[in-house]
Amino acid sequence: MGSSDGVVETAGDGQSDSAQAARREELVTLYREASDCTRCPLAETRQKVVFGAGNANADLMFVGEGPGAQEDKQGLPFVGRAGGLLNELLAGVGLERDDVWITNVVKCRPPGNRDPHPAEIEACSGYLSRQLDLIRPRVVATLGNFATRLLTRSRDPISRVRGTPQLHTLGGTQVFVFPIFHPAAALRTPSLRESLETDFKALRELIDRPVPTAVIEPDLDALPEVAQTGRGPAPARSQLDLFG
Ligand code: URA
Repeated sequence: MGSSDGVVETAGDGQSDSAQAARREELVTLYREASDCTRCPLAETRQKVVFGAGNANADLMFVGEGPGAQEDKQGLPFVGRAGGLLNELLAGVGLERDDVWITNVVKCRPPGNRDPHPAEIEACSGYLSRQLDLIRPRVVATLGNFATRLLTRSRDPISRVRGTPQLHTLGGTQVFVFPIFHPAAALRTPSLRESLETDFKALRELIDRPVPTAVIEPDLDALPEVAQTGRGPAPARSQLDLFG
């Protein structure tokens, strides 16, 4: 996969280079598989699948909602107005797009930018799940309600949970999930920008914080997640199965 796939190569970070290269190769295979996906009706109206882009070994992954018109045209995430703001917020804390992985809950544009339907999210969830497995971020920033509700398996609104890290098991490992407002919300409501800037500063610090390891229960594999957010154990559901 060349530069058109949006996947950046990076130097090793302690893992063997060959293990890292193998995971990147699998990500490329997944990208190819997703490129002609017909798992849901969004395939009929999209121009391009927006798989995700950035650093295949990133510590930080952003998960948005779904591609808009520009993303659909270019096949890359967050390249429209919301993407412009995302770039500014990243730059404000010394990060570039090539330092992070950026993707969405659904990889194809919902017509007219409507909300993705539960069945579309469900059909697409395997791609996000595999991206988490292969990229192994330490911090997952969920942008807005759709990504936050999917990855935290909670119905809490973003306005209530933003800016507080949660510990979840995703892609087989403990990660910090950090809910923040979607940049598009700050374009509609400029007063939200200040919260986004505050949360990006916290996000920058979170990347360097060690992720606490899970308390290992004897049969942990049988449990998709042990919630550690102060709300007690999560119901036993499959990893990204919020809407089933
Ligand atoms: N909004 C999203 O949620 N994702 C994009 O890729 C662009 C806009």
